[in-house]
Amino acid sequence: MKAIFNIIAVLFFIHAGAQDTAGRYFLARTTGKLPFLEYGLGDDRLGGAKMTYLDSNIILKVVDSFGIDYKVQLSKYHTAYIDKQSVQRLPGKKPAPYYLTGSWKVSGDSAYDYVSINLDEKLPYRSQQQINPSKIVLDIFGATSNTNWITQLKTTKEIKNVYYEQTEDDVFRVTVELKHAQHWGHSIYYDTTGKRLVLQVKRQPLLLDIKKLRIAVDAGHGGDNSGASGVSSNVLEKEYTLKIAKQLQLLLSKAGVKKVFMTRTIDTTLDMPQRIQMLKDYNPDLLISIHLNSAGSDTVKGTSTYYRYIGYRPLTISVLNQMLSLGLKEYGNVGNFNFSLNGPTAYPNCLVEVAFLSNRGDEKKILDPKFHKAVARKIYLGIQDWLKAIK
Ligand SMILES: [Zn+2]
Repeated sequence: MKAIFNIIAVLFFIHAGAQDTAGRYFLARTTGKLPFLEYGLGDDRLGGAKMTYLDSNIILKVVDSFGIDYKVQLSKYHTAYIDKQSVQRLPGKKPAPYYLTGSWKVSGDSAYDYVSINLDEKLPYRSQQQINPSKIVLDIFGATSNTNWITQLKTTKEIKNVYYEQTEDDVFRVTVELKHAQHWGHSIYYDTTGKRLVLQVKRQPLLLDIKKLRIAVDAGHGGDNSGASGVSSNVLEKEYTLKIAKQLQLLLSKAGVKKVFMTRTIDTTLDMPQRIQMLKDYNPDLLISIHLNSAGSDTVKGTSTYYRYIGYRPLTISVLNQMLSLGLKEYGNVGNFNFSLNGPTAYPNCLVEVAFLSNRGDEKKILDPKFHKAVARKIYLGIQDWLKAIK
């Protein structure tokens, strides 16, 4: 009896596995909140290295299955991984033999520039910021050029030039040269026609005056998620990130910044997708996220700032330089960081890990209300330094 059951179990397993593997594939579309691709199956405490967030309804070819992730074939030589919950299977749908790009339009409205690209299908993409000179590079996977017409209108303000190259048979690379050195953000989505990919480019504000900017301040953790705790005091990170964030809010308001957005002002639970969505809805010009660090060893100490995209590094350096004048040790400026709120490309963002709660010297500072004001002041001055350096 047991043997028969085992055979049935094995047959079932083979059948279940064969749907996802062994040279077979199925098509699916992205679904749910904030689907994203990862480069590989690597993981750290913040998840794997992310390749890109994707719009919903993007078509993906699922070729394999690994635990909670599907492996997807983006193009002949490129694969990525996506959470199974972020895709919806398309039973019976077959891929077209090829997908073509059509004509483009480069234009602007009162706030943004746009590059709109006609495509046969909602294909996956990824983007990258480049600096010196500043460019946005957008790869569209599975696309082959039939673009013979790029209309460029005078309403465009920030985009200097656009061009493409077919870097592989099925990878179409769009390059967008920007006028200003500073990246102010970009978003990628399919418009309501469903077959037009839009790269929306944020312009540099006409007046680089902090008072005119929409500044978002995020107090890390909150509610059920208390974060790190003090090595000798046991105070919770979530309480002190909020104290510092509120000081920054107060200081910005006093300095004449009219539009300050706080992801939270009370002790409440907010997960990362919720924060990202709130920020997307608010549409800030820049984001400062405040955390307190913690390490396994109590000798590790100091202040640090973090970015994910190279175009946002200058803000994080200006803030770090100011923070260092508080007498904190330099823990460093960290790039390519996988923190969720460094993930959006739509606005410059900076994570500030003020100091270490796990170090006695740093903890003593963190407990002092005067220090919260001083940190707020340094972050404010860091933003000001960054603005002054922008050409
Ligand atoms: Zn934290």
